[in-house]
Amino acid sequence: MRRKIAILGATGSVGSSALDLIERSPDRFEVVALTAAVNSEALAAAARRTGAKLAVVADECRLSDLQARLAGTGCRAAAGREALIEAAAGEADLVLAAIVGCAGLEPVMAAVEAGRIVALANKEALVTAGALMTDSALRNGATLLPVDSEHNAIFQCLAGSRGGDVSRIILTASGGPFRTASAEKMRGATPAEAVAHPNWSMGAKISVDSATLMNKGLELIEAHYLFRLPSDRIDILIHPQSVIHSLVEFIDGSMLAQLGCPDMRIPIAYALAWPERMATPAPRVDLSSIASLDFEAPDLERFPALRLAREALQASGAAPIVLNAANEVAVASFLAGRIGFADIAAIVERALGESRAAGPASISDVLEIDRMTRVQVESAMQAVCQ
Ligand code: NAD
Ligand code: MG
Repeated sequence: MRRKIAILGATGSVGSSALDLIERSPDRFEVVALTAAVNSEALAAAARRTGAKLAVVADECRLSDLQARLAGTGCRAAAGREALIEAAAGEADLVLAAIVGCAGLEPVMAAVEAGRIVALANKEALVTAGALMTDSALRNGATLLPVDSEHNAIFQCLAGSRGGDVSRIILTASGGPFRTASAEKMRGATPAEAVAHPNWSMGAKISVDSATLMNKGLELIEAHYLFRLPSDRIDILIHPQSVIHSLVEFIDGSMLAQLGCPDMRIPIAYALAWPERMATPAPRVDLSSIASLDFEAPDLERFPALRLAREALQASGAAPIVLNAANEVAVASFLAGRIGFADIAAIVERALGESRAAGPASISDVLEIDRMTRVQVESAMQAVCQ
């Protein structure tokens, strides 16, 4: 029987890589739903190629265009929030959550509440609603499979081991485009320089997060919820070659690592085919040509975002939501040329310091803290930019 797949965020970097794999294995997968934010042209093209039954564009203004592009295909076009939730909680066996940002939270939760297998790339959803999501997954029989390469690596290393045998996990980080840059050079960094990741090809937001190391900070929080480990048992290690995607250390002193070329199709394939494996066209690691693998400790002075994320995890409650919302607004402002690179972490630090929000008891609380933080950060930025 073919596995029925829904892809939330099908037009993005992760979504496109998943489609590439799925289209190579039509005997294995059936695409039932695809979604996108605004790009109705790319969405309709993907729906036509895969024979999807439902295509959803978040922006309702794009519905008529999507309908026109899908005329005669048998694929239903829909738009807006409710339709995104329908795509997530519909007939799919496995939902790939590849929307960027907290915008993906409601559809991810809909898939979790429907008890689906959720292949999670959308780390911001877990960062903002980690406890609510993992509790709901337990209650509803949903399975959360990490797609983020580091978490997927840890998930692979943990296979067959008992939780009590793990002493710590080590998330590797490439260090991003500014790993060796001076603080002064980083202050003047342009969006084009920040998104030029040395090893991975990714969407703009996560590329900037990789340059500030906020990405690793979000991944620290993500790892805490996925693997139920406290902050002091999750370490960060800079590894510029991005060949080791993460490691697990066990109580006997053994360490297991997962290696691979930096190609997201490997972790995506692991999640799509889980608990089996499937072939991918990803290049293979040639250790003799790599010759050496380097490691160094992260520099928390030049990369304060990593410190802020750890503090937010330790504070818990509303702090991870505030961290994420302030970062989303700051990154969008940086990409739009409104603020400098160093302002991103400064804005996040200020938002965390000013927040008085209580911890969330529900997803609507999470969304409200997210909304309030965005309003506060926007108005603070406007005051500074004037
Ligand atoms: P991207 O910007 O390339 O794509 C994002 C997708 O989400 C697009 O399909 C877009 O249409 C959709 N989207 C954006 N805003 C939306 C909204 N408001 N409502 C509905 N849909 C919306 O991003 P990406 O690089 O593919 O990353 C997706 C997620 O996966 C992020 O959370 C990222 O952190 C995570 N991730 C990405 C990579 C990678 O290699 N790109 C690796 C690990 C984790
Ligand atoms: Mg990652």
